[in-house]
Amino acid sequence: MKRSLSFRLSILLIMYTGAILIIASIAMIHATHYHFQLYGNEMEESHHSTDLLNSHLEQAIIQSIGLTIGGALSIALILSIYIARRISSPLIGMRNLTLVMAGGERDVRLPLKGAPKDELDELATSINHLAEQLQQQEQLRIAMTENIAHELRTPLTTLNSYLAAIQDGVWEPTPERIQSSREEIFRLIQLVQDLEELQIFSSSDFSLSRKAVPLQRSIEQVMGLMRPSFKEHEIQLSEGYIPCATILADESRLVQIWTNILSNALKFTPKGGNVRLDGEIMADSVLITVTDSGIGIPAEDLPHIFERFYRVEKSRNRKMGGGGLGLAITKTLLERHGGQVWAESDEGVGTQIHVKLPIVQ
Ligand code: ADP
Repeated sequence: MKRSLSFRLSILLIMYTGAILIIASIAMIHATHYHFQLYGNEMEESHHSTDLLNSHLEQAIIQSIGLTIGGALSIALILSIYIARRISSPLIGMRNLTLVMAGGERDVRLPLKGAPKDELDELATSINHLAEQLQQQEQLRIAMTENIAHELRTPLTTLNSYLAAIQDGVWEPTPERIQSSREEIFRLIQLVQDLEELQIFSSSDFSLSRKAVPLQRSIEQVMGLMRPSFKEHEIQLSEGYIPCATILADESRLVQIWTNILSNALKFTPKGGNVRLDGEIMADSVLITVTDSGIGIPAEDLPHIFERFYRVEKSRNRKMGGGGLGLAITKTLLERHGGQVWAESDEGVGTQIHVKLPIVQ
């Protein structure tokens, strides 16, 4: 059973004080008894005066009291040092570990035995949790830096070689080539924008400006905007039953969520395919499903598609313009709205993206 540290300390101190008092009292009783026995014997046998015997008895009793107090104080001192060491040694361990962590080491942990028994154990558990979080953040930071460097390197190298070729006079800056260079620049701008958004949405300072938004309105808005692109790519965009529900949402972010999901469906569905939106009410939430008849996602990639910079078949997606941040942004935004997103897919058959959002009753 978990007991507070102060409770355990109080019990320990009461027990130790009690034990010392009992030992001292027993010692005192024995010593007094012994001295009075001697006194009685002396009275019977000795020729000394009563005054002298009384004075000897008094001295003997005073000596016994002094010895008992001295003994009790010594035991108290030893016990105090023992208790102080027991309390301070885990604290010293924690201080040393935090110093090591501050020095940059992240894979250090405090040894823990079973479930926390008191506040000191809880503190050790919290420090281990903090170390875990710091290690994860560090790994995420390294992965992010590597990913950003990788994403920037390709378009920048391409642009640099185009410009060098123009400068050397081996490449004519035709309108098509200028257009291709601009597309690389557009990708870079898009990447920077996505990174900025992801950073803002993930920050603890970010707050949504939420109001009651009719679900049908936000979906219609996006469908209207995206229909021409679907038509251009000869993909049929249709809509099933969309419940008449209201969501407490930041409308522009909600539009961004539908746009990201539909853009992916558009990107990864070949000509002649179809994309469909369906909805259903589930207790206190609404479930929207976007189904496409596209290329699908391999089973081994499916659990990772919501991670930052994750792309199935990196080179192909780069040509399609995806930076691998769209679904990470979508997931962060949905979580900010108290919602969820997940995917199901069959490679070569199609993908279903499910979005669950709480509704206003
Ligand atoms: P991107 O900007 O590359 O589209 P996302 O984060 O939006 O990045 O998606 C991550 C990856 O998940 C995509 O690169 C793609 O490989 C895969 N993906 C997402 N949606 C679909 C879909 N509807 N069909 C097939 N693959 C998809």
